[in-house]
Amino acid sequence: MATSGASSRDITKPRVTRIELRGGSAYVVGQRRAILVDSGLVRDSERLVRRLIELDFLRDLTLVLATHGHADHTGGLAAVKQEDPGRIKIATHAAATPFVEAGRNAPCRPATFLGHLACPFISMLPSSPGVEVDIVLDGEASLLPYGVEGWVVPTPGHTLGCTSVVLPGGEAIVGDLLMTAFGRGPVPRLPLFTQDVSLWRQSVAGLLDRDIHTFHAGHGGPFSAQQVRQLLKHVERRRTANP
Ligand SMILES: [Zn+2]
Ligand SMILES: [Zn+2]
Repeated sequence: MATSGASSRDITKPRVTRIELRGGSAYVVGQRRAILVDSGLVRDSERLVRRLIELDFLRDLTLVLATHGHADHTGGLAAVKQEDPGRIKIATHAAATPFVEAGRNAPCRPATFLGHLACPFISMLPSSPGVEVDIVLDGEASLLPYGVEGWVVPTPGHTLGCTSVVLPGGEAIVGDLLMTAFGRGPVPRLPLFTQDVSLWRQSVAGLLDRDIHTFHAGHGGPFSAQQVRQLLKHVERRRTANP
């Protein structure tokens, strides 16, 4: 993968920087180069590019990962790519790729009472500009070719095409795998929309098995391992009571 044109950083440990957008949070992971995880709504595009310049990450950006195919995570992909199409690559999971390329939302399935109430509002989200996906992910992938020590791992559940970024120091960026009820507050909940609750439980348990201590989320957070363990137990108890 060509990374010419990017300057070299000398950071020994990947550093996570949160960028607050109207559609939720995007994250930059900077080390020798930088990667961006998620990109907000289309109306966040200008602010996102401006923040990447202010934080001095844009010139080192090699990869933008869309954790999944929802418009509050894919809206700024095209604008960021446009800054240097030869260097900045777009990546997402194979199951999210058709939605990212068409600028459509992956299916939403209400998992909670609030999810049922919120369903009509999801269709009101503005669609994203479709963007060609350069790297279609199927399994776990190293981020080293993009200058960052870490991995992209599939974490399906919220949608079937969800991925998370796992960093060696015990941090993970998990998109909508975990979120607060309305994107605010400190307590993680089962996402309002969860396409497959069994897969969600496996994905969350899998991250806990990797000794993640800090979970950076698309809406709210960060969450601790203890909070996430409690949530998993709560959801498992509820599923046992109401299979
Ligand atoms: Zn989502
Ligand atoms: Zn979201």
